[in-house]
Amino acid sequence: MTAQILDGKLVASAVKEEVAAVVSQLDYVPGLATVLVGDDPASHSYVRGKRRDAEQVGIRSFHHELPATIPQDELEALIDGLNANDEVDGILVQLPLPGELDSEAIVERIDPSKDVDGLHPFNLGLLVLGKKGLRPCTPSGILRILDHYGIETAGARVVIVGRSFLVGRPLALMLSERGADATVTVTHSRTEDLHGETTDADILVAAAGARGLITAEHVKPGAAVIDVGINRTDDGLVGDVDFDSVVESAGAITPVPGGVGPMTRAMLLVNTLSAAKARRS
Ligand code: NDP
Repeated sequence: MTAQILDGKLVASAVKEEVAAVVSQLDYVPGLATVLVGDDPASHSYVRGKRRDAEQVGIRSFHHELPATIPQDELEALIDGLNANDEVDGILVQLPLPGELDSEAIVERIDPSKDVDGLHPFNLGLLVLGKKGLRPCTPSGILRILDHYGIETAGARVVIVGRSFLVGRPLALMLSERGADATVTVTHSRTEDLHGETTDADILVAAAGARGLITAEHVKPGAAVIDVGINRTDDGLVGDVDFDSVVESAGAITPVPGGVGPMTRAMLLVNTLSAAKARRS
């Protein structure tokens, strides 16, 4: 059996079309501010993509590019200005920040109603409580791609490899929320028997940032495999999953690139639209 390919580009473009259709009916233009600090080429490329996406769906983008030497207080003052700017509905600070800058303090400075990355402690708190709020983009994108392909989460056993606040932990909460109703196990680098855990999964999510960590031996035949990992190699981007072996036995799999990455970007647009509607209603 060869796995069905879960095409993130395709689903992301459907999401973008939905957002564009709603935006075109609004009597205002939603605004997304992007803040890019330093000269990391990957960060520059991510932000370029996010701004392009925003423009494609009719969201206005306000871009701020700053040197890595910017003092913390100046960056905080910029965030304060964006918080106060009524034309800005969403603020995205590209992480990680370089050098000594305190990322946590910067994220906490963002007005939670404009926190389109969903990483402010207030929004993460709403997630823990199961209350409405802006959710982190990558977990939202994973739920969306599963939904698009009709991969049922209710009653499914999900194993997540990785417990970061960016991916693994919020995803575990979102999958176990009422409505998604999965039974979730979160694993990490101290998990004793990773293989024993992953082979139980109906849905296996790899978000470790470790190339080739998940091989065919880790995957129950027929399982859906979501590869979040992004690892840069001489041959380009690869995930955490050994695609060539896993594709032979899994039921479904996301490729890297073209799987979770485009979904993360698309959900940023969804969040910006939600933030705009909530703020301006
Ligand atoms: P972090 O480094 O913050 O977290 C990695 C997690 O994986 C940690 O919990 C770590 O365990 C765990 N881990 C690492 N190695 C192993 C291992 N060998 N076995 C089991 N668990 C392991 O990374 P992020 O969550 O920020 O990102 C993870 C990956 O996803 C990266 O490749 C990143 O580039 C990618 N990513 C992709 C996105 C997309 O849109 N496609 C978006 C965000 C991230 P411990 O806690 O014990 O250290």
